[in-house]
Amino acid sequence: MVHKGSCHCGRISFQVEGELGPVVECNCSHCSRKGYLLWFVPRGSLTLDSPESDLATYTFNKHVIRHHFCPTCGCAPFGFGTSPSGEPTAAVNVRCLEGVELGELQRIPVDGRSR
Ligand SMILES: [Zn+2]
Repeated sequence: MVHKGSCHCGRISFQVEGELGPVVECNCSHCSRKGYLLWFVPRGSLTLDSPESDLATYTFNKHVIRHHFCPTCGCAPFGFGTSPSGEPTAAVNVRCLEGVELGELQRIPVDGRSR
């Protein structure tokens, strides 16, 4: 199915095709501050409905993941990177998707803090 997502003010809007399953909750300094609950999908499964030039970008550490956020309202709906096998991948923050019951999702804890 198609999941619609956006930042709070609507400047960033997008769609993700796929079945939403368990989400990753990582305790690293970045994920814990932003409150990310991440769903990893192939980059091609995410379609932007707003201009890519409207995305602000944050990188840190090895600078291989582009963490995008809205320059107006600050929400961070997704990031782009590459999977361990080399596939372009999107990490979708399911908090920014419409109609998702966060309490019903299985959360997979990832200990990014100690890596
Ligand atoms: Zn916004």
